[in-house]
Parts: sequence; structure tokens; C-alpha cells
Amino acid sequence: MKLQMVNLKDQYSKIKTEIDQAVLDVIDSTQFIKGPVVKSFEDNLAAYLNVKHVIGCANGTDALQVAMMALGLKPGDEIIVPAFTYVATAEVIGLLGLTPVMVDVNIDDFNINIEILEKAITNKTKAIVPVHLFGQNANMEAILEIASNHNLFVIEDAAQSIGSDYIFKDGTIKKSGTIGHIGCTSFFPSKNLGCMGDGGAIFTNSDHLAERIKMIANHGQSKQYYHDEIGVNSRLDAIQAAILDVKLKYLDEYSTARKKAADTYDELISSNENLVSPYRNNFSSHVFHQYTIIAKNNSRSIFLEKLKQNEIPHNIYYPVPLYKQKAFGMEKIKMNLKHTEYLCNSVFSIPMHTELTFSQQNYIIDKLLS
Ligand SMILES: *Cc1c(COP(=O)(O)O)cnc(C)c1O
Repeated sequence: MKLQMVNLKDQYSKIKTEIDQAVLDVIDSTQFIKGPVVKSFEDNLAAYLNVKHVIGCANGTDALQVAMMALGLKPGDEIIVPAFTYVATAEVIGLLGLTPVMVDVNIDDFNINIEILEKAITNKTKAIVPVHLFGQNANMEAILEIASNHNLFVIEDAAQSIGSDYIFKDGTIKKSGTIGHIGCTSFFPSKNLGCMGDGGAIFTNSDHLAERIKMIANHGQSKQYYHDEIGVNSRLDAIQAAILDVKLKYLDEYSTARKKAADTYDELISSNENLVSPYRNNFSSHVFHQYTIIAKNNSRSIFLEKLKQNEIPHNIYYPVPLYKQKAFGMEKIKMNLKHTEYLCNSVFSIPMHTELTFSQQNYIIDKLLS
């Protein structure tokens, strides 16, 4: 059986006519940079997310960097991030000369732990970057409260969670990435809303921040050829925006397909006492960017061996805690965050995408449990 972690080919073939036409229309218009197609996608995504401003940029990493620059964060400022995430979240913090403060995550939903986060706050702390890992929101209500008590900015890393709902205690629902001061996402092809190259976007409800974000992403330019501060050049190109505008219409359908596949996996692995299926917290919907399983009792290598033998694609997101990445130069500190260490040694992810069939899933789990 031919299996892939992500099946972009079959997803594309279902909407090929629409995508191809959208791309050809951009080529025909020769409006490759900015222009009406980018504007249309930004407006449609803003309407979908119910957020005031969506600003396209070149990728998710740039989105995080531009967000931090727009907030005026300065060298020496401490930014709190979960230690169990993709490197990009903390990389831009390092790049800007800010200090990443890495804290432990929950063992159940893999997201930043609220009690530990609060203890990590010092008088240098300026911002928190919750990551909605694998498609499920972090506890934003608690994070907003802590941020407001300590006067901190909240930048959401929603690269894996676009389309997921956050449910407040009073029943209010907001989309992932629209809850903090700024939200960031990525349109990397394998993300839940993926383009056919690189792309990213920044969300905010603040008019003032939106102006700053646009200026920073455009060479710090306030009006043409007047540059008020050092910025960057980060744009979402029109061909990618045209593709995304088509795919946005299918995002809810894609999320439903992922959820259905996750429920099926849950059922199929439930009989094995060493495997823990992904936990669902009660304040977020889960859009399953990844389907990530915990293998208890040091059993991961045995399961991975079965997958390898049967040529079933799989991956470990993430094998190394952020603070053990050489890039951050923190080896001497000898950090050891209990849950982060445990998860890096115990989790693995199996194929998750919008085109999975029951027979493929059955086959994968049959081999996994063999
Ligand atoms: C993918 C990802 C990013 C970076 O996005 P790029 O578009 O690849 O730059 C940042 N944070 C997280 C959590 C991601 O998964």
C-alpha cells in the first residue's frame, strides 16, 4: 500500500481546475506582487477568522519575526515560549537578540503549562508566545489573564492550528490566532491551509499594530521611499494568494476530514495499553495538523520498528527540546523539563491528511500493532 505522511497530490487533483485557472489568471494579469488577488485573500481570510486585519507575508517564521518587531521588543527582553515546539518559534527570538525563556508543557495536550509559565515571569518579561501545537489551542483564557496582570504581549503561533476554535468559559468562540495581540500562521504546503510554495500571514484586531506590521514587512516604509525604521521585505506573492483563496473555501471540509481520520485512529489503537491517543482539551477544537501518539513505558522504538519494516511513513515531532538545540547555546545550563523530555522520548506521528481512507488507516494500525 502506497502511503504518505501528507498527500497533496490527491488533494490538488480534486480542485485542479479551479487552482489552475486561479494561477493562470495571475500570470495573465502580470500583477505578481501585492495587487487585488492578495487583497482578496487577506479580506476573505479576515472574514473567515472574524479578525480585523490579515497581513500576508513570506512565511510563518517571518510572521513571528515581524510581529515581534512591530511590538517594539528590544534586546534583553524576555519572551516566554514552550520548550516543546518547532524551532522557528524561538529562532526569531534569538535572531532579534531577545531572550527566549523556555518552559515546560502539559503532558496531555502538549501545550504550554500555565502554572510554570506564570512562575517564569520576571521584570524583564515582555511577551508570551503560546504555540497551538498539532492543531489544538493552548489555554488562552488563562494566558490572557496572566498577560493582563503582568502587562505582557501575547503572540500566538497558529502555524499548525488555522481554523480551530477556542471556546471561552462564557461560550464565546474565537478562531485560533485571533485571541492574543497578534497571531501568526504559515501556509507551508503541508500545513492545514497550505499553498504551493512558501507563505504566511499575521492577524490582529488592532489598527495601530496592523499599520506597524505592514510598515515593518515593507522595509520600514511609511510612505514610498520614506523609511522610518529598519524593516524587512516579506510578502505573500500573488500566485500563492490565488491558490490560498481557492483552498480557503475548503478549509472547514479539510478540518472535518482530519478530525474524522483522528477519531478513526483513536478507535483502532484503543485496544493497545501502551499507546495514548491525542488528548482533547475542553476549551479548543482540534484540527489535527499532526496525529501524535505517546508510546508509554519506553515502547516507542518497538512501534517505530514495526512501521519501518512495513514502510509506513512516520516522524517524531519533536525529538529534541528547544533548550538542547545547539543554536541557543544553552547546553551549560543543563535544563531538564520533565514533560518536554518525556514527550521528546515518547511521541511519534503517523500519516495525517485530508485524503486518508479507512482501509489505509486500518492497514497502518494493523502493522503498528502487529
Ligand atoms: C511551520 C511552523 C512555523 C514556521 O513556518 P514557515 O512557514 O515554515 O516559516 C512556525 N511555528 C510552527 C509551530 C510551525 O509548525
